[in-house]
Amino acid sequence: MTRATMKAVVYDGPERVKIATVPAAEITGPDDVLVRITRTAICGTDLGLLRHPGDLPTGTILGHEYVGVVEAIGSSVRGFRPGDRVSGSDFTACGRCWWCRRGDHWECKSRAFFGTGTSFGRALDGAQAELLRVPFADVVLQHLPDAVSDDAGIFFGDVLATAYAAISRADILPGDTVAIVGGGPVGLVTSMVAGARSAGPVVLVEPLEARRARATSLGALAVDPVGASSLVRSLTDGRGADAVIDAIGGGLGLSASFGLIRKRGTIVSVGVHHDDSSAFPTRRAFAEELTLRFVIGDSMRDRDQFTALVSTGLLDLDAVITRVVPFDDAVGAYADLLAQRAMKIVLAL
Ligand SMILES: [Zn+2]
Ligand SMILES: [Zn+2]
Repeated sequence: MTRATMKAVVYDGPERVKIATVPAAEITGPDDVLVRITRTAICGTDLGLLRHPGDLPTGTILGHEYVGVVEAIGSSVRGFRPGDRVSGSDFTACGRCWWCRRGDHWECKSRAFFGTGTSFGRALDGAQAELLRVPFADVVLQHLPDAVSDDAGIFFGDVLATAYAAISRADILPGDTVAIVGGGPVGLVTSMVAGARSAGPVVLVEPLEARRARATSLGALAVDPVGASSLVRSLTDGRGADAVIDAIGGGLGLSASFGLIRKRGTIVSVGVHHDDSSAFPTRRAFAEELTLRFVIGDSMRDRDQFTALVSTGLLDLDAVITRVVPFDDAVGAYADLLAQRAMKIVLAL
């Protein structure tokens, strides 16, 4: 079934979106799959772009977190058939180049990030729409197991991949104390992944009371930034956390992380950084042999591992969702998220 137009959420100027009728997405190359979207989520990255829309042309179809059903496939696609239930990475990669063969898909020259203009590479229409064209689909898409709900599946392309990469790179041993700076969706899912991967105490640092309450209900020790250092020190005989995950980014996220880490500990920053430079405690980092890593999630590399955590019930991703609303309520959903009246909103089609 081909159609001429579709509904989509498009960028409409700083901090504004609207639902527009646009030309329908379609197959344009042999590696493409056309996905009929059933769920798509609004991400902190979308909100950040609305606030700092440097490389985001008006009219851009937004969104990069999606679950759907395969509608049509290009002539060389081998892994998917019409009717398959899928989710997919938030960015594309060729799967064949030197970087892709190493599992470093983010460095692929064919990278394009759905729904973000040219902020992270070549422009590619986003997933907050009735239909989505997915290039390099055999690499980018994954089959969703029956045990994974559509709502949980929207975390696979970005948030869960980011959380999984953060903990993977944090060098933790069973029982280690892990502190997470920021209790948004990434921080919250990171706290769950840390628990599922045998961390000891997981401390989540977050100023908003409602977000702390949710983190507590999911097993973390949630604390206001003011009390974070004393809590972490009380848990570690004064040493500080074995690993700290910065899930907010910028100078604020890094300085909070350095305030919690122990000697010889590892800080992993997965929050977005916009500044060209920021203050760095060089002398202390040397004297205490600190490790600082910057990490970007890679659903294509890590999906086999984290999918198992969800399909076996070790991670309850539905608990991160504030609410699921009809697609036509997207404008109000964006307004609530921009005002921090909600944490994660999923649009249903
Ligand atoms: Zn996202
Ligand atoms: Zn590649």
